[in-house]
Amino acid sequence: MHHFQVKRGELCCEGVPLRRVAEVSGTPAYVYSHATLSHHYTVFDEAFGGIPHVICYSMKANSNGSVIRTFTNLGGGVDIVSGGELARALAAGAPPSKIVYSGVGKQVWEIEEALRAGILMFNVESRGELETIDAVAGRMRKRAPVSLRVNPDVDPKTHPYISTGLKKNKFGIQIAQAVRDYEWAAGRKNIEVVGVDCHIGSQLTELSPFVDAAGRIRTLVERLVRKGMPIRMVDIGGGLGITYDDELPPHPRQYADAIVRAFSGLDVTLVLEPGRVLVGNAGVLLTRVLYTKESSAPGGKGKKRFFIVDAAMNDLARPSLYGSYHGILPVGRAPRGKVNADVVGPICESGDFLARDRRLPSFSPGDLLAVMSAGAYGYSMSSNYNSRTRAVEVMISGSRMEVVRERETLRDLARGERTASFLSPRKPGR
Ligand SMILES: *Cc1c(COP(=O)(O)O)cnc(C)c1O
Repeated sequence: MHHFQVKRGELCCEGVPLRRVAEVSGTPAYVYSHATLSHHYTVFDEAFGGIPHVICYSMKANSNGSVIRTFTNLGGGVDIVSGGELARALAAGAPPSKIVYSGVGKQVWEIEEALRAGILMFNVESRGELETIDAVAGRMRKRAPVSLRVNPDVDPKTHPYISTGLKKNKFGIQIAQAVRDYEWAAGRKNIEVVGVDCHIGSQLTELSPFVDAAGRIRTLVERLVRKGMPIRMVDIGGGLGITYDDELPPHPRQYADAIVRAFSGLDVTLVLEPGRVLVGNAGVLLTRVLYTKESSAPGGKGKKRFFIVDAAMNDLARPSLYGSYHGILPVGRAPRGKVNADVVGPICESGDFLARDRRLPSFSPGDLLAVMSAGAYGYSMSSNYNSRTRAVEVMISGSRMEVVRERETLRDLARGERTASFLSPRKPGR
């Protein structure tokens, strides 16, 4: 469910035509629907209503402060993966007591900042990291709350780059050695073992990998409790998929029912780390057609059309990175007639495409398009490649439209850059 609908022939975000956003803020622009974000959070939260739980929004999916604040205003916490995310989460009003810190490569300064803030727990991924956290906490005269991220070795059946719960992935501690590592962790003076954590991958469209992982985690929790470890948190990660094209992922209620069932009877608080499912379909990338171009396809099988637009792989990397599908919708009245086309950006890479081999309306230069489902891993993965300024981010609530991050300026492109002193300035005219 989302609030991007056609009204009187125009694609709108809630009560605002996307054409208006383009007129006011230009293109390319990321546009987020506040009502959609709130709705997704509430549905997810209510699905776990029957048991103690904390929803820690995985902010790497979309790190905009207004997006984070939308969830924290509804009672949510945040899942972070860096000191930078910690700073932004705190700045966006996230309560430290609902922040969990994941990731394989935490640095000393990041651990210090998290301990200083007083986060809910560290999700620890190796013995080396346990040692570092123990030492840092000792120096700060604190005890660090810790869960170990275990790798349940289940196949999430998703894209290999976003599957994380297999033996061959860099993430987590093998579930078979977990008890040993837990005993070792429990012996550290400055570490308080509080929970078990896993995260098996992203964009999962089936329930069974979650059920398998939860079953293995439960077995582990029971073993640890029998050994006298006070496990009170079970963090099941994120990863629930969304519909980009024709996927039929489980509804959050089915997902919640399966997870709750897997842990029923255990005296634990569940921690959930949803990212994509909260923000993915709550955002679009608004872009304008610059040029159209035709070429003959190989084998002479008709013509191939390109729509060259002002957004590119630096704005939305997913199609280039994972071959991902994003729907393309006309923003105004669709031109008559359909053509087979690619939607491509201005970047000097053949991999710079937003959509490939699609039946699309026969757009003309100046037409606006919406790249759908771009709220997750869109802006947050964007870059300045080809010295392109990062897009503006706009949030809409009802008929209100606000810039929640300005478009970068040309000055931003060289911010912090200096000319090396041994490069004497070239004399003009030579
Ligand atoms: C990326 C990530 C998430 C969120 O994944 P989604 O697929 O966006 O829900 C949750 N937990 C951890 C540890 C992650 O790395």
